[in-house]
Amino acid sequence: VEATLILVKPDGVARGLTGEILRRIEAKGYRLADLAYVHADRELLAAHYAEHEGKPFYEPLIEFMSSGPIVAIRAEGERVIEGFRVLAGTTDPTTAAPGTIRGDLGRDWGLRVQQNLVHGSDSVESAERELGLWFA
Ligand code: ATP
Repeated sequence: VEATLILVKPDGVARGLTGEILRRIEAKGYRLADLAYVHADRELLAAHYAEHEGKPFYEPLIEFMSSGPIVAIRAEGERVIEGFRVLAGTTDPTTAAPGTIRGDLGRDWGLRVQQNLVHGSDSVESAERELGLWFA
């Protein structure tokens, strides 16, 4: 069965939305196969976001992701990688569709990094790589 890495980012944990986000994942029918409360260090975040190194939002992104605890989830289910990205909605919380996590709950304060509540792996390869990083 397929597996993906989902992160409830520091904004989601700080706003008390972890339960609501887990509820949506479970209600869809995905299994919470593993779950961890993580204070991510720079090394882990640099590995996780290696593809974004050098982009203008990279430093603010690493700073934001280090700003508080993260809830890391290994979720399993049929087509869970694609399915969770649909549940999450598009990157920008202002324009993410209503009905999605980011569309319903995300806020845009015009910060230098999009505080968009969640991360989900975008392919089988990244899911394997990212699960290896967060659940070593
Ligand atoms: P999606 O692929 O749906 O955008 P993602 O979380 O995988 O979700 P990435 O493009 O991998 O998005 O970017 C990683 C994170 O960096 C985003 O979730 C967001 O927090 C932040 N980010 C991405 N692009 C920008 C941007 N142009 N300005 C500010 N922050 C950004």
